Amino acid sequence: MARGPIIVWTMKALDLAIGKFRDAGETVALVPTMGALHAGHLALVRRAHRRADRVVVSIFVNPAQFAPTEDFSSYPRAFETDIAALRTEQVDLVWAPPRELLYPEGFATSINVKGPAAADLEDRFRPHFFGGVATVVAKLFAQCRPDFALFGEKDYQQLKTVTRMAADLDLKVKVIGIPTVREKDGLALSSRNVYLSPAERAVAPTLYRTLRESAARIAAREPIARVMSEGWLAIEAAGFAVDYFEARHAETLRRVETVDDGPLRLLVAARLGKTRLIDNIAV
Ligand code: AMP
Repeated sequence: MARGPIIVWTMKALDLAIGKFRDAGETVALVPTMGALHAGHLALVRRAHRRADRVVVSIFVNPAQFAPTEDFSSYPRAFETDIAALRTEQVDLVWAPPRELLYPEGFATSINVKGPAAADLEDRFRPHFFGGVATVVAKLFAQCRPDFALFGEKDYQQLKTVTRMAADLDLKVKVIGIPTVREKDGLALSSRNVYLSPAERAVAPTLYRTLRESAARIAAREPIARVMSEGWLAIEAAGFAVDYFEARHAETLRRVETVDDGPLRLLVAARLGKTRLIDNIAV
């Protein structure tokens, strides 16, 4: 069996481990996660191995990115199985800081993100989310000093926010986006899919199917407004409550009028019972 990753919980142990990599002239890739790992996370790990000599995975369920009404306390946690999966993937180091280490008594700083973080998509429904993400990711970058950091396109607005933040703050980390890993029927893998009832799971692939069909129609120059309103209705007809279903500029996430304003990305968030799903696709 592969040797397990070194697991560290303290700043001192992390500094020592990262320092050893650095002293040996090795490059480091970081994969930030909230645990409850699935094949999507592991795809990031595999890509990280291709980019860097050492792969560090952080596991931290970040309270700062959950609103009081959201699922912070019930968010799935599976540390032992996560470590087993990371052992198989030959991860070098797992950084699992306790909450008090990241947010000690008196913690008073947060990063104020605009641009893609204020695109009126996820931020409309989760106003504190990207500030929380940017702050914790900046801290993880400072702690782990990676050359590369890998994020999933699954959380597309997050990927663009972190990319912007790293560039704006001169963080010297190359942020790399990885395509979404899906179930055979198209549903994007997500730690929150465990919340879906069997009936909800059966209709959940509607989201990706509608994204695909809508992207094909827009690429064939059908008017964006018509395609998007018909897509919205199709998602609703499957039983979802739609938060947004929009075509945006793929880099800035600004609103677009026609396919010529592209490159375009379609983004959706919709609720099925108690579960909120997000997904997106390139046009
Ligand atoms: P999370 O643990 O949900 O915060 O996700 C950690 C990282 O894994 C983020 O960069 C996500 O975008 C990425 N991720 C989550 N689901 C998938 C997926 N289905 N395919 C690819 N990456 C994913």
